[in-house]
Amino acid sequence: MDTIAIRQMFPILNQEVNGHPLVYLDSSATSQKPVSVIEAVERYYRQDNSNVHRGVHTLGSRATDQYEGAREKVRRFINAKSSAEVIFTRGTTTSINTVAYGYARKFLQKGDEIVITPMEHHSNIIPWQQVAKVTGATLKYIPLQPDGTITLEDARKTITTETKIVAMTHVSNVLGTINPIKEITEIAHKHGAIIVVDGAQGAPHMQVDVQDLDCDFYAFSGHKMCAPTGIGVLYGKRNLLEEMDPVEFGGEMIDFVDLYDSTWKELPWKFEGGTPIIAGAIGLGAAIDFLNEIGMEQILEHEQKLADYAMEKLQSIDGMKIYGPKKRAALVTFNLDDVHPHDVSTVLDAEGIAIRAGHHCAQPLMKWLDVTATARASFYLYNTEKDVDRLVEGLLKTKEYFGDVF
Ligand code: PMP
Repeated sequence: MDTIAIRQMFPILNQEVNGHPLVYLDSSATSQKPVSVIEAVERYYRQDNSNVHRGVHTLGSRATDQYEGAREKVRRFINAKSSAEVIFTRGTTTSINTVAYGYARKFLQKGDEIVITPMEHHSNIIPWQQVAKVTGATLKYIPLQPDGTITLEDARKTITTETKIVAMTHVSNVLGTINPIKEITEIAHKHGAIIVVDGAQGAPHMQVDVQDLDCDFYAFSGHKMCAPTGIGVLYGKRNLLEEMDPVEFGGEMIDFVDLYDSTWKELPWKFEGGTPIIAGAIGLGAAIDFLNEIGMEQILEHEQKLADYAMEKLQSIDGMKIYGPKKRAALVTFNLDDVHPHDVSTVLDAEGIAIRAGHHCAQPLMKWLDVTATARASFYLYNTEKDVDRLVEGLLKTKEYFGDVF
């Protein structure tokens, strides 16, 4: 399927913003939604809306079938062994916190180590800082190379027999760095540690096979992969999920409740307390159908070409500073001369171009880059080279506009 045909499936892209055709370059923050996903959610609310796993009426069975059907689609999408290993959450943040609360707080103690990297999103830093404070464990960082990558040699030095958890992003939302998760997992396992992968920027863009990676946990968000907001996934190996405590207690997640004690449902429902995110899960199932129809390999190939094109074009702009390695995912983080990224973003917005400006929920990384903020253009399957050209034109206008100031 060509990109023009793909684009037409995203109604939001077909509009003018501030008098210009919209160029959406903020998919790392959240992706747009294709018609099939919007319709799946609408169909559910129009025809099938009901709670799941409760009543025995027809709507209840339809909703339950669709909700559990979506879980099976996720299982296949990431090649988990069993759908019991697929927990529906609110998103990556909730997924990582579930591991921090349900696993780390239960099993870590003083003297243990948690190893992360300085390129992590706040969602994969703060939960571990909190675990360290509560358990007395130590938080350690694998250092970054000047280009924003990590080396296996440094990983081998940082991960020790005291390490109990390695938590790492699959793809950096700022640098575009693609981390060698399979190799890091091997190192972690050799030392008896488990690995938690932040897949927020991984799963939407590349084929993820959790069995091949052999990772222990893999967290991702639906809204970055064409699904609605409010739905995400925590994949976990069954034995670890079994050992963990639930983190939310209430309806749906119990087996038997007595006056003073209760027992939990089996996996995955033990972690899904309360009425689950039914419409969101159904939307995620539709998003997975959509991505599969196009093919994750084709999506990755398209994005790689676009990233190369964007790098080449942006590098040619005088005063452009690009952060991160050469080999990268489909996003470019940059600063232009001394123009504040918020000003860059404001001028671009006037041209109908949406990019992200700020610290990208990665303040430690900003400190490492020695900046307070950056601009970021991020791409997805619906972006074209024309979008990159419009970005370049917009940036040249920005330079012109601020030319007198500097
Ligand atoms: N990790 C990374 C690398 C991200 O890019 C994001 C979203 N910006 C998150 C975690 C958090 O995702 P969510 O807000 O959907 O929980």
